[in-house]
Amino acid sequence: MSAACIFCKIIKGDIPSFKIFESDKTFAFLDIGPLSKGHSLIIPKHHGAKLHDIPDDQLAEVLSVTKRIAVAQGLENYNILQNNGRIAHQVVDHVHFHLIPKPNETEGLGVGWPTK
Ligand code: C5P
Repeated sequence: MSAACIFCKIIKGDIPSFKIFESDKTFAFLDIGPLSKGHSLIIPKHHGAKLHDIPDDQLAEVLSVTKRIAVAQGLENYNILQNNGRIAHQVVDHVHFHLIPKPNETEGLGVGWPTK
């Protein structure tokens, strides 16, 4: 946990979120600025800014949970995105996987990134 991290505060419940999954290692919630309806963020509870900061067991569960949410949402078309570093458009320095439903050709991630 990092006291200054906004996603650690969401995990602790100090900042409200629309939670969709929680286990001892993983937390998932709806993105506050969705690129499409149902856009969610799946995060390891272990605080780390970049992918290489996260233990393998946490990463494995994050990807498994991402898959389970996609299945639960009945998604046929979707993007999974994980940004590392400012040049790569990372804004929040706590590793997070975006799960972005792609219901049609015009909504979300249509012509590059970011589109909001
Ligand atoms: O990958 P990147 O760091 O650019 O994305 C951060 C994401 O976190 C954004 O999509 C933003 O809408 C989301 N966010 C959120 N709740 C917050 C702060 C940011 O869902 N309180």
